[in-house]
Amino acid sequence: MGNCPFCQNRIQEVVFDDTRNFMALYNIAPIFPGHSLIVPRRHVQSVMELTTPEFEELMDFTRRVTVDLLDVFKANAFNWTLQDREAAGQTLAHLHVHIVLRFPNDLPDPGDWYPLVKQNYGEILDSAHRPHLADKDMQTIVHRLRHRTGFKGE
Ligand SMILES: [Zn+2]
Repeated sequence: MGNCPFCQNRIQEVVFDDTRNFMALYNIAPIFPGHSLIVPRRHVQSVMELTTPEFEELMDFTRRVTVDLLDVFKANAFNWTLQDREAAGQTLAHLHVHIVLRFPNDLPDPGDWYPLVKQNYGEILDSAHRPHLADKDMQTIVHRLRHRTGFKGE
């Protein structure tokens, strides 16, 4: 789609795993270590536009990537979130699921994580206002994730 950063490849996040219809991207400005995005290759705004097999693939792939992230980052808790359409806070009209790993005492109240996702919306991606990882750190993380997931692409 014309102005979509995911479709135009205008994103800094790096693919570390994929499946037929979805990609796993490591967030260049993670809320917490491990913060990743699951994105369909096809431009859809809503989960309601996915076929049933695509939806099942999304759920299965998201869980599989979460298993690998939990292992690599030595975590055992996580949040998943997606904002589906504008009234729900979606600012980028291409479906994406956030996987946010959680660590003991990472926030004073474990329920306070959502504002960290939301406050960063604004520019191309929701990472615009968080500190970006240095190239070297990003490469190290993506290498570990690709090794763990057996990713062969890119
Ligand atoms: Zn798109």
